[in-house]
Amino acid sequence: MNIILLGPPGAGKGTQAKRLQDTYGIVQLSTGDMLRAEVASDSALGRQVKAVMEAGSLVADDILIALIDHRIDQPDCAKGFILDGFPRTVAQAEALDAMLAKKRLKLDAVIEMVVDDAALVTRIAGRYTCATCGAGYHDQFKPTKVPGVCDACGSRDLTRRTDDTASTVNARLKAYHGLTKPLLPYYRARGVLHAVDGMAEIDEVAGQIEAALAKVGAVPKRAGKPAAAAKRGAKKGASPG
Ligand code: ADP
Ligand code: ADP
Ligand code: ZN
Repeated sequence: MNIILLGPPGAGKGTQAKRLQDTYGIVQLSTGDMLRAEVASDSALGRQVKAVMEAGSLVADDILIALIDHRIDQPDCAKGFILDGFPRTVAQAEALDAMLAKKRLKLDAVIEMVVDDAALVTRIAGRYTCATCGAGYHDQFKPTKVPGVCDACGSRDLTRRTDDTASTVNARLKAYHGLTKPLLPYYRARGVLHAVDGMAEIDEVAGQIEAALAKVGAVPKRAGKPAAAAKRGAKKGASPG
């Protein structure tokens, strides 16, 4: 199963991609994370893209296309992948089509996450991440259970992105509306586009994505688990659900 999560900055792509990894056993390919890793390691590529990212502009198409072309060839992508943050321009989408055809891979679904601009500003302003394990949080909508401590791994190394500022949000939204939105008719014409309500709560959005993916034949990795859990519950006399 190879899918694209498409949506404006802050729509919840990363949040949902991480859940999809666990649900379907396919790998999240976040171009934002890949580029931030290059910047953090101070590689030649990182030095090249740092200023562009901090300004909230898009990095050049050829850089992104080469990055994804190489990444998809890695063995962990064999079972499938979730593209999170790529493609972001029509040129990237066309290059992806050519790349998938060459590798004899199929694009199963493009999930559009619909969120209005006002909500995106709030989401981006409150976003923080665990630097140790990558888990994502939000000041209001998804705070850690213990303040300052990651729920998933216990790390205290919680960070905010340098580009998650009020001044770059507008540039990023402008890039989305001008350069990325034309991908919606592009994929709609190919019959692979499924829209979900990204304004709903995180669990509800996940449910809508799973329903869309079920239509194209996606089967959750742990399909057998609920039955086993129900059996254990029955033994203890607990009611199911
Ligand atoms: P993207 O990867 O599309 O930029 P994220 O997944 O990083 O978006 O989400 C942006 C912020 O909004 C994060 O702080 C995340 O915890 C929060 N968030 C994600 N989905 C929702 C949702 N459905 N409702 C409220 N907040 C959300
Ligand atoms: P968001 O979570 O806000 O959607 P990302 O983490 O996906 O942001 O991307 C952060 C930045 O990395 C972008 O603002 C852009 O500068 C760069 N970037 C990521 N993916 C792409 C892409 N496909 N094309 C061009 N630039 C990209
Ligand atoms: Zn963590």
